[in-house]
Amino acid sequence: MKIKKMIETSLIDWEGKIVSTLYVSSCNFRCPFCYNCDLVLNPDSFSDVSEEEIDGYLVERKDFIDGICMSGGEPTLDPDLPGYFKRIKEKGFLIKLDTNGTNPRMLEELLSNNLVDYLAMDIKSSLNFDHYGQAAGIKDKILLERVKESIKLIMGSPVEYEFRTTVVPLLHTEETILEIAASISGAKRYVLQSFSATEKTLDPSFQKIKSYASEKIRELSEKTKKYIPNCSWR
Ligand code: SF4
Repeated sequence: MKIKKMIETSLIDWEGKIVSTLYVSSCNFRCPFCYNCDLVLNPDSFSDVSEEEIDGYLVERKDFIDGICMSGGEPTLDPDLPGYFKRIKEKGFLIKLDTNGTNPRMLEELLSNNLVDYLAMDIKSSLNFDHYGQAAGIKDKILLERVKESIKLIMGSPVEYEFRTTVVPLLHTEETILEIAASISGAKRYVLQSFSATEKTLDPSFQKIKSYASEKIRELSEKTKKYIPNCSWR
């Protein structure tokens, strides 16, 4: 498993848990607002973090580290992910997976083998290709079909999860957010994340976009509650 970056201790990547956050590099999306663009576009500029190094850190701190958050990039592109999670679980750690939802077959495998304790899946836009293609920077319609499949799979499974959308003014209006919410109506949890224009972005022109005011994001989250009562924002 190629891990390119590790945040040794994080209190913010899994609510209520202390984790080490691990990042893979590759991604099959090119979201213009992506903050991890260095990892996505220049993976070779990062050296690998070895499994031994990660294991050593986790095992030595087992008393206070609850588990890992696997992020990226898109972790499910690596065929070694299930095996890696199995080894982490055998050491007694919990696992959160961040995913863009384009590999439902692997998600199915992870869920049926109880290899994930919490799933956070991005929903980049409303589920029509004009919107999704623009927000995810993709031209291949099959990827959106896979996203839809993953939504169904996750909502039908007993796993703890959240769907989340980074809300970007150029890409999302109130109507877009309500369309997304309607398409995942009844989900366990939906989180709106405010895009922060000060970050580095995959498309540099997005650095100039002014974020929505917090009040606007809060209002949006209130409106989506008619579809998903457990909707929040961050
Ligand atoms: S924000 Fe988009 S491009 Fe960046 S890692 Fe996530 S899915 Fe990939």
